[in-house]
Amino acid sequence: MRKIIDMRLNPSDAYVPARWKYMASLMLGIAPGRIYHITPIRLSMDARNKVVFRLKAEIFIGEHLPQEERVFKTALPDVSSRSPVIVVGAGPAGLFAALALVQRGFKPIVIERGKTIQGRKYDIALLNRGEKLNPESNYCFGEGGAGTFSDGKLYTRSTKRGDVTSILRTLVEHGAADNILFDAHPHIGTDKLPGIITSMRRSLLEAGAEFHFNTRVTGFLVSKGRIKGIRDSAGNNFKAGAVILATGHSAHDVYEMMHKEGYALEARPFALGVRVEHPQKLIDEIQYGMADRGR
Ligand SMILES: Cc1cc2nc3c(=O)[nH]c(=O)nc-3n(C[C@H](O)[C@H](O)[C@H](O)COP(=O)(O)OP(=O)(O)OC[C@H]3O[C@@H](n4cnc5c(N)ncnc54)[C@H](O)[C@@H]3O)c2cc1C
Repeated sequence: MRKIIDMRLNPSDAYVPARWKYMASLMLGIAPGRIYHITPIRLSMDARNKVVFRLKAEIFIGEHLPQEERVFKTALPDVSSRSPVIVVGAGPAGLFAALALVQRGFKPIVIERGKTIQGRKYDIALLNRGEKLNPESNYCFGEGGAGTFSDGKLYTRSTKRGDVTSILRTLVEHGAADNILFDAHPHIGTDKLPGIITSMRRSLLEAGAEFHFNTRVTGFLVSKGRIKGIRDSAGNNFKAGAVILATGHSAHDVYEMMHKEGYALEARPFALGVRVEHPQKLIDEIQYGMADRGR
């Protein structure tokens, strides 16, 4: 039997599944051993008075979670000999575009001006020591795109632009903790993000996609008004029947080139964010009213 219940949890219990089980058993009036599995649906914090967490969860009483409801890595089709589509940029937009292409039976050819995560880490270390800025490999450019070395906050729950849940599941399949699937304010964590991006690249490569790093797109191959591919800064041509431009907001040179060549461009509104960092202890005191939240 399954039941959906709403639990109120102390901050120190909010991320401890054993405590969820205990609370659920109290609420349902059954022994904890009768609960075989708990699927969290949504975890949110209520900070209006004393801080409490609310967990909506599906409780499996005397039955296990069926195999098909577990998160497994989705098998991708082999696209190595399928029609190529060029994806410019290996940021989030480019990587997810490449994944969507594979799922639809196209072979993505991902072209990225920067380096792989590993090479990028080295360049960022140099930058942080004030030694050198590599214009092609830095906080904005390189595998994973602009936010790769950030906390990886995933706050949007907007359904207007697509299926957020499938994006979150893809991230879990590639190594993110599964609490991002139900946490109201999920984040991946700076330590995990680079590994997840590398894992996504591996999945794409296994499916037959190509990746070309250190390759900066400088122009398009166009014939009779139709796109035929791109050319890079070293003079190489890459041919494909379609090109997806996922170059992010820092690629000013791309937009200047397109403007010069007469492509129709439209400016988008922008949002400005500011990041302020505090010690965890201070946040625990201010937000949760305790010296140590225990997590
Ligand atoms: C410090 C920081 C922290 C952030 N934290 C978060 C967060 O916690 N949560 C969140 O949701 N968002 C965060 N963001 C924003 C998020 O990173 C961006 O919204 C996101 O990266 C945009 O994805 P994108 O793929 O469109 O572009 P980008 O990530 O900019 O990727 C574009 C890619 O294209 C490549 N490229 C550009 N020009 C060319 C060219 N000519 N040829 C070949 N390749 C090219 C670039 O090297 C880059 O890898 C953060 C951003 C920064 C800078």
